[in-house]
Amino acid sequence: MQSSFSNVVLKNHSGILVVDRQGLIRFANPAAQKSLGRNAAQLDGLPFGLPSIGSQTELDILRPDGSYGIAEVTATETEWEGLPASLIMLHDITDRKRAEDQVQHQATHDTLTGLPNRSMFLNCLEQALLDGRRHREPLAVLFLDLDRFKEVNDTLGHRVGDALLEAVALRLKRILGNQDLVARLGGDEFTVLARRVGSANGAGELAARISTAFSTPLDAAGHRLYSRPSIGIALFPEHGNTGETLMRNADTAMYEAKRRPGIEGFAFYQPEQTQRSRERLDLETRLRTILAAGGLRLRYQAQADLRTGRLCAAETLMRCVDAQGRILLPGQFIPVMEQTGLIREAGDWALGAACMQIRAWLDQQSTHADRPACTPPPLAINLSAVQLDDANLPDRIAELLDRYRLAPDRLALEVTESALMDKADRARTILERLTTLGVSLHLDDFGTGYSSLALLGELPFSVIKIDRGFVSQVPGSEKHIGLIAAMIAMAHRLHLRVVAEGVETPDQWALLRQLGCDMAQGYLISRPLPPAAFARLCMGHRDRPVKHG
Ligand code: C2E
Ligand code: CA
Ligand code: CA
Repeated sequence: MQSSFSNVVLKNHSGILVVDRQGLIRFANPAAQKSLGRNAAQLDGLPFGLPSIGSQTELDILRPDGSYGIAEVTATETEWEGLPASLIMLHDITDRKRAEDQVQHQATHDTLTGLPNRSMFLNCLEQALLDGRRHREPLAVLFLDLDRFKEVNDTLGHRVGDALLEAVALRLKRILGNQDLVARLGGDEFTVLARRVGSANGAGELAARISTAFSTPLDAAGHRLYSRPSIGIALFPEHGNTGETLMRNADTAMYEAKRRPGIEGFAFYQPEQTQRSRERLDLETRLRTILAAGGLRLRYQAQADLRTGRLCAAETLMRCVDAQGRILLPGQFIPVMEQTGLIREAGDWALGAACMQIRAWLDQQSTHADRPACTPPPLAINLSAVQLDDANLPDRIAELLDRYRLAPDRLALEVTESALMDKADRARTILERLTTLGVSLHLDDFGTGYSSLALLGELPFSVIKIDRGFVSQVPGSEKHIGLIAAMIAMAHRLHLRVVAEGVETPDQWALLRQLGCDMAQGYLISRPLPPAAFARLCMGHRDRPVKHG
């Protein structure tokens, strides 16, 4: 009986120890010896401490496979050589612990990037705010949103999108010090809690450092992608006292950074931004209502041939009309439409409406051959950068040309330099496919972007439009005359035609004509007109050149 009981102790897989009242080890079974990494002789008399009876503590142990683990320690009273002692059992709970840790980790971390998630970030932020208040230490919350992430996801697929997010997480971790915490809120939104920033300057420097670090491409599943974050900064205590407020204000500031995509890529929260973001939201709601109610309109602005004075083309310009009949101008609504993606729907509408209008004019011409009718000139339609993300655009235009039985040379598309700046090659492929259809490409607002010359070399443009900013300075400014002359000479050298925008005076007309500019557009020729008025203008100028003083 005695020996079979000692067998139970000796062969038990759990460690069993006896510790005397002084807290010294008196006995350890083989399992306990293994767990503690020492033999019986080494353990005998070694201090273990006095475990409190009935309570459970934990102890680091060596596991049979040689790895470290955790044991739960339970103590009960016993006797050893006639004296009171503690009987201690070591239960290996490493696996259970790991499972628990994993659950805990999953609840507080983002599965894709392994970064802390929103709830953990908020917890840490609240904790940091407590410390910050106590030690009067400033803190900064940075809100990051990747520019054009949706574009990557939509065109290259979720796998590449996910890989990009992982690469971004890695890069952020690398840039930030171990004082800082970076979390992923979801989607392409990240937040950074920056301690020890010292001041607004420090936070700005950190944001600039992040921004610069993203000027080199990221590797996402074999794709080299550029993805820069727009960063909003809210400071404690200036911009808020609670975690929620700081996060919200950093988010608002991020929108500001996106709204004016400068070289910096970040913006500090300013109280009036809340007012502005509310207005932006109101305008967005208003635009959605207008779109749903069919309140979009096109205006047509004529372009005249500078040599003959004849009307030779027109540009379509969008207007929004609300239920009260108030007209909104593109300057007000295009930026919001671009930020919210509404421009996809509106831009598509403009393409359809322009094609339908040309067909209507052509039909009037053929059915009323006896009456004067409008000979519609080719129409140039403005394309937003956002529309260049859509690989279906060429198919869509081909379909419209087909549906309205239009030759492709009746359409031109105007793209701005800034729309093409740091655009992925995909946008270029789209534009090339469009020219293969026979639709011509016009480079808008020429001279205002950064990469004009490089773009002209790369893309099949047939027309450049000299921005109104240059035209408005002449004939007064010699320097601007020089610039315009140089643009015209360069364009002609590349076999491109030139439209001067914003021609308002006969002087400008005369000068541009003298400089060899091909076409003019502006109030001198005509304001943007509704279709009926534009048709009358066309009829009037069918035989008679446009007045130009
Ligand atoms: P933009 O493409 O450069 O269009 C020319 C702008 O200059 C138009 O303003 C036109 O009304 C104005 N303009 C024309 N001639 C003169 C002139 O002699 N003097 C002055 N002061 N202004 C003149 P608008 O219609 O307000 O459009 C502003 C911008 O909005 C356009 O600039 C274009 O970038 C954008 N936009 C207009 N329609 C559309 C559209 O359907 N889609 C997209 N994506 N953007 C559009
Ligand atoms: Ca334009
Ligand atoms: Ca323009």
